[in-house]
Amino acid sequence: SAASLAEKPGLLGRIFGRGESSAPRRVLDDAMIESLEEVLIQADMGVETALRVTANLAEGRMGRKLSVAEIKGLLAGEIARIMEPVARPLPLYAKKPQVVLVVGVNGSGKTTTIGKLASQFRAAGKKVVIAAGDTFRAAAVEQLQVWGARAGVPVMTAPEGSDPASLAFDAMDRAEREGADLLLIDTAGRLQNRQDLMEELAKIVRVIRKKDASAPHNTLLVLDATTGQNALSQVDTFRKLADVSGLVMTKLDGTAKGGVLVALADRFGLPIHAIGVGEQIDDLAPFDPQDFACALVG
Ligand code: GDP
Repeated sequence: SAASLAEKPGLLGRIFGRGESSAPRRVLDDAMIESLEEVLIQADMGVETALRVTANLAEGRMGRKLSVAEIKGLLAGEIARIMEPVARPLPLYAKKPQVVLVVGVNGSGKTTTIGKLASQFRAAGKKVVIAAGDTFRAAAVEQLQVWGARAGVPVMTAPEGSDPASLAFDAMDRAEREGADLLLIDTAGRLQNRQDLMEELAKIVRVIRKKDASAPHNTLLVLDATTGQNALSQVDTFRKLADVSGLVMTKLDGTAKGGVLVALADRFGLPIHAIGVGEQIDDLAPFDPQDFACALVG
């Protein structure tokens, strides 16, 4: 995954062009800082974060002559510094079952990510149950059943249009009875009707708390890297709908380099638990700040 991230052209190619290793050293001046800011903003990093990154880079270095490699290294270092505190795998608790609510807009990759997580945890010897909580989307339920079969994990479903909270309750019941370590609950992602969705999520939480007052132990928000800056407003929105505890960013295997993750880390400080790097079951990678920063800068 790191390799596939690194293969994408980086941001600084836009300033320095190719053949940069033989390029002369550049003076770090206002014009240089400005063009760095520009590419960071174009990379979805947001104005505020881009300015902070370049200000840190500039500090004590203005007027110095630097090679392109040095500039890249410094920039990647500044970005990695912002990302390091948020690079944290999904924490595992002794509590059984650990309940993970998975939220996000439709198409972001919730179903796929649940399948990948289920497979990873199962491979690590954990007993996993999935609840197909998006009961209004028959396709999502079917898709989850396919993923469950691939991962070798049971998928609890309910008739189309039935109450997701009652499914969640039944799933809690089963997970407890079977001594499952982890219960992954898919949820609807219809942002068109936020009030409905908020009530639906609140009811799921209320119901599972009848069985375990500390649940859900994690609320994972799945974001699609190809939506760019839009991810910021999705985090804003979902934090109002649910108690989001961490993020997964999908589709980082495409052309999107996920610059918005830097803005997200800077603004919200939510842990990034994993990244999606493909459509296959093993295409979920830990978030590595160094790899990410180097790939982004290029
Ligand atoms: P949901 O509606 O949020 O449940 O989204 P899905 O899990 O159904 O994913 C939507 C589409 O994105 C599907 O075609 C997935 O194969 C694709 N997808 C999900 N994660 C990734 C990823 O990390 N990389 C790529 N390339 N595609 C992904």
